Amino acid sequence: MLDPFKRHINYLRISVTDRCNLRCRYCMPEEGIDMMAHDDILSFEEIETLVKLGVEKGITKIRLTGGEPLVRKGIVDLVRLIASIPGVEDLAMTTNGILLDQFAEALKQNGLHRVNISLDTMDPEKFSYITRGGDINKVFYGIEAAKRAGLNPVKINCVVRNSADEPDALEVKKFCDENDLSIRYIHQMNLEDGSFSKVEGGEGGKCETCNRLRLTADGSFKPCLFNEAGFNIKEHGHDGAFDKAISNKPKEGTRNKSGRFNQIGG
Ligand code: SAM
Ligand code: SF4
Repeated sequence: MLDPFKRHINYLRISVTDRCNLRCRYCMPEEGIDMMAHDDILSFEEIETLVKLGVEKGITKIRLTGGEPLVRKGIVDLVRLIASIPGVEDLAMTTNGILLDQFAEALKQNGLHRVNISLDTMDPEKFSYITRGGDINKVFYGIEAAKRAGLNPVKINCVVRNSADEPDALEVKKFCDENDLSIRYIHQMNLEDGSFSKVEGGEGGKCETCNRLRLTADGSFKPCLFNEAGFNIKEHGHDGAFDKAISNKPKEGTRNKSGRFNQIGG
């Protein structure tokens, strides 16, 4: 489907949960956030139906994200359901990697094509600080497991404060070079004040060629990460929510005072 600015929308990013097993400082407050009510979270059948609808309307690429997608119970079953929908040409996942060691093989067997794994530093203490308690070794095991399982290409998402030349990012780059991983740098953003920029090494943040639509875990189609607009299927119906999100896709991002990364999926 074409949006009002003649961009061909073929990429749907689905946040399968707003829950997470980490608490990255730039993404989630430590505690006390309002989580989505369990009853509001889309069931696998609903997600499957919405992906089929998306494919009819021109979606060919799907990415599962979150929160942390691997904490959603039965995630492997969801991967199988989506992978078996004809027309889904690319099925990827963005994960923090903590649980990937135990899931990589099953994800691959059930039809996941590839993963992006988040890693901002090589320093265990800094990693624990950034993520408020995460164990970097689990991420390394996860990366190894993803490579072993053939979830290729394994890409690393590295959040940088200012530039790809800062020391932590350079060390992550070295690790990637030595381990046959590709790296993309995401500038740390603030949805509320509208500070965002292009992802280096990826497609994110390029408004003029943006081909994305987002689906939140509670069923809202969102046209843009940097915009408050969202159309819930309960209010607008499946077709209506999808079509409204496309017809309301802004020319470019501005800011999003109500959105959070763990809800929209980055
Ligand atoms: N939990 C998974 C993970 O961390 O990879 C998937 C969801 S996370 C919200 C998706 C991506 O958004 C991650 O690569 C994360 O580093 C990035 N992210 C989160 N908050 C961000 C922020 N404030 N600025 C830039 N990137 C951010
Ligand atoms: Fe969780 Fe990913 Fe957000 Fe970190 S960036 S708190 S791992 S959702």
